Amino acid sequence: MGSRQEKDKAVNVQVILRCRPFSEDELRNNAPQVVTCNDYQREVAISQTIAGKQIDRIFTFDKVFGPSAKQKDLYDQAVIPIVNEVLEGFNCTIFAYGQTGTGKTYTMEGECRKAKNGPKGQLPSDAGVIPRAVKQIFDTLESQNAEYSVKVTFIELYNEEITDLLAPEELSKIALEDRQKKPLPLMEDGKGGVLVRGIEEEIVTSADEIFTLLERGSAKRRTAETLLNKQSSRSHSLFSITIHIKEATPEGVELIKCGKLNLVDLAGSENISRSGAREGRAREAGEINKSLLTLGRVITALVEHLGHIPYRDSKLTRLLRDSLGGRTKTCIIATVSPSVYCLEETLSTLDYAHRAK
Ligand code: ADP
Ligand code: MG
Repeated sequence: MGSRQEKDKAVNVQVILRCRPFSEDELRNNAPQVVTCNDYQREVAISQTIAGKQIDRIFTFDKVFGPSAKQKDLYDQAVIPIVNEVLEGFNCTIFAYGQTGTGKTYTMEGECRKAKNGPKGQLPSDAGVIPRAVKQIFDTLESQNAEYSVKVTFIELYNEEITDLLAPEELSKIALEDRQKKPLPLMEDGKGGVLVRGIEEEIVTSADEIFTLLERGSAKRRTAETLLNKQSSRSHSLFSITIHIKEATPEGVELIKCGKLNLVDLAGSENISRSGAREGRAREAGEINKSLLTLGRVITALVEHLGHIPYRDSKLTRLLRDSLGGRTKTCIIATVSPSVYCLEETLSTLDYAHRAK
């Protein structure tokens, strides 16, 4: 694997733009539409009227999914090849980036909490990337005649502090506050990666088990939000699946392929542009900025082949260090609203995403 990693130095960062449909609120208020997607041309047009003059800006991405694109469309066209890489033994990361309310969680999770209740083997149509990836992974592994193991972790990063969403602890306010005081520390694993000390690594043997864990983690995230007055828009969540597959070469030599898929639901991007200046929240905003801003810098450094990649500058990039750059695939799904009310944030999301290309 090492030599294969050497051979391919090309940076694999794919940037996808997804525009959600109008929300009920936007429809009720007759919100004018300023975003137009052309999925085939992979273009997004922004039309604004400034001082009576119409100004259009056009952005091109690797893929564009307009409001009518379904979860399955995005998955089949953008994610299947990435999961295939993971099954081949590589590390890959998919980020959802965008303003709060534009569909990051919908894209990553969708209705996965109901996933296991669907008819046998079928996912509901609005299941997002995580349940679909889990299903693809187990469908593939189960169809192969190889020994394998699958492990998952699910953590939340809030204020540069890590909480284990799978830890089997009591959901009381005291337990949670206690946990806040003792956030889990990061440790180098000596192989270029980073470990969260004391984290729960669940070994799973079927897709249904992962759905149960995901449900547990999401419930814990919501409870912690309410109990500790967290704002969900300020936290990042990271769901990681590690797969080991034991194979034998035609010569009978045993080899283990290890691949990891990271699925990241980032904090709302408005936290970068606006909250930084607000008094009282300065530390929190600064800390949140740290992971989001550093991620932007790391991706820019990778795309521009800069010598120094500032992985160490934030928890998120330290955690993802072995899955960003080198022979890994990175996919950023930038999400926007079509309406004029979000225009300012939409432009900043488009600029951020465009810079990552
Ligand atoms: P975020 O996580 O970015 O804050 P959400 O994923 O919570 O945003 O989405 C906000 C709302 O919009 C939710 O009610 C969600 O179901 C809906 N939504 C987002 N994207 C889509 C989409 N592509 N199609 C249909 N509904 C969507
Ligand atoms: Mg969300």
